[in-house]
Amino acid sequence: MAALKGECLCGKIRYEYNGATGNLVHCHCSRCRKWHGAAFRSRIVVKQDGYKLIQGEEYLAQYQATPNVIKTFCQNCGSSLATIYPLRDNLLGLPISGCEGELDRYEEFHIYTGSKAQWWKITDNLPQYENIPEDKAIMHCINE
Ligand SMILES: [Zn+2]
Ligand SMILES: [Zn+2]
Repeated sequence: MAALKGECLCGKIRYEYNGATGNLVHCHCSRCRKWHGAAFRSRIVVKQDGYKLIQGEEYLAQYQATPNVIKTFCQNCGSSLATIYPLRDNLLGLPISGCEGELDRYEEFHIYTGSKAQWWKITDNLPQYENIPEDKAIMHCINE
């Protein structure tokens, strides 16, 4: 179980999450690199019903990147916030670097290393997947 709080850079949007979490994944795909302006995106999956927007709903904007991925962000400061998966009931992707609080897990694996930034060296011993794991279920499972 995790008890997390997060906010965007300008502080207009605030949220919290209480509940079980899914795998903490570093995604090196080119979409995540563009979206975050970073070498990779680190995210966990959480349950929609444990996620609460506390403040700033009027600043929350959406961008549908693929049929199953809707990115949300702050219109005022541009911070990347939760990802909605329209084809996965009750799940959200949460960029974990924007959260504070108690997380019950550590980083677990790298995905889309086949399109990672050429200048970034992965120096840990975590499993790496060139695309996504063959067992797709581990991408979005939440172990209660
Ligand atoms: Zn903001
Ligand atoms: Zn990605």
